[in-house]
Amino acid sequence: MPSTGRLTRADAEAMDAADELALLRGEFLLPGGIVYLDGNSLGALPRRTAERVREVVEREWGRDLIRSWNANGWIDLPARVAGLVAPLIGASADEVAVADSTSVNVFKLLAGGLRLRPGRRVVLSEEANFPTDLYVAQGLSRLLGDVELRLVPRGSLRAALGNDVAVLLLTHVDFRTGEIHDLAGLTRAAHDAGALALWDLAHSAGAVPVDLGGCEADLAVGCGYKYLNGGPGAPAFAFVARRWHSALETPLSGWMGHASPFAFDTRYEPAGGVARLLCGTPPVLSLAALECGVETVARAGIEGLRRKSMALTQLFVALVEQECRAFGFALASPREAERRGSQVSLRHPKAYAIVQALIARGVVGDFRTPDILRFGFAPLYLRFTDAWDAVAALREVMENREWQRPEHQARARVT
Ligand SMILES: *Cc1c(COP(=O)(O)O)cnc(C)c1O
Repeated sequence: MPSTGRLTRADAEAMDAADELALLRGEFLLPGGIVYLDGNSLGALPRRTAERVREVVEREWGRDLIRSWNANGWIDLPARVAGLVAPLIGASADEVAVADSTSVNVFKLLAGGLRLRPGRRVVLSEEANFPTDLYVAQGLSRLLGDVELRLVPRGSLRAALGNDVAVLLLTHVDFRTGEIHDLAGLTRAAHDAGALALWDLAHSAGAVPVDLGGCEADLAVGCGYKYLNGGPGAPAFAFVARRWHSALETPLSGWMGHASPFAFDTRYEPAGGVARLLCGTPPVLSLAALECGVETVARAGIEGLRRKSMALTQLFVALVEQECRAFGFALASPREAERRGSQVSLRHPKAYAIVQALIARGVVGDFRTPDILRFGFAPLYLRFTDAWDAVAALREVMENREWQRPEHQARARVT
């Protein structure tokens, strides 16, 4: 990006022409006329997924029926997808399970983590953590009776790591601001205090490289439908460091996590390693779609994706400051690209209506309460000219006061 002078659309075009990942966009089915800045909430549809799901439905389910569990490898699908996710998060394939939702995996690993720290009854998290993580911790606390969820502001986490803390529960990339936590440093601080660290990688996996192994992380969960492009409600993943494999107990001890499900034993005996984190029968159609989604990330390479993502968000921030200075936006994300994930968030008192007006113009971002406009930059399929066009639309929405139209005021169920 040119460091001086006014940026023009031609600058963005030049960045697209020089982009080594530009061709990957062709692997996705994206509607015309849309600038899609919500791949952090629901990744776009890979072309291959549409074909593959059709094949699994018609040939494997329709024709081969129940034989497919063996003949078409359905039973191996969770482990196969886990093997694709593992390198993106610095894990070994045998440390990752693909199952259930992120919320359910938080429940399993938080309960498991508490049992690994007997005598300690506090789960420490931050007030700004993603609500489902906090809600699940609250539910577990009610279930167990003697567990306290302690919430502190971001800056007080280290000081709050007392000798009663069993698990530090944090989201790596903040869902509102995109700010990145120091995963290595906070994991070390948790260990120094005798606690375990459980990381939620929902906004990291597929966009920000994570080195769980190098950071000696204990436990982690993450989402399949955001940057991993697995489709709406895709299965999630769970990571357990190998050193905890024999000791970790899951409270959802279902038959698919049994050492030998088809022995139909009366007594539960956990499978070795992370396989015990499977609970019920794997959702084959969703896993087939997730496999295609994760493959798009794996083929591109996470390091190159991160470089492009930082360049995209940097361009967007510079353009907002150049084009929209007059309209009262404040940058809610860290200014330095290294400190934020693959999103840029702006604050504005009329954030909801502005986001609706942008969507009406084909620029799809989202609103997060109370005053955040959130723009996700999935580097697999976004262009630098998309950043330009989005800011040009934002400027017009503000100049023409399009956000004041009555149809942009009513809140939908999903924002
Ligand atoms: C999106 C997201 C989730 C989603 O959880 P689900 O169980 O899939 O609904 C969880 N945690 C964080 C931090 C998220 O951003």
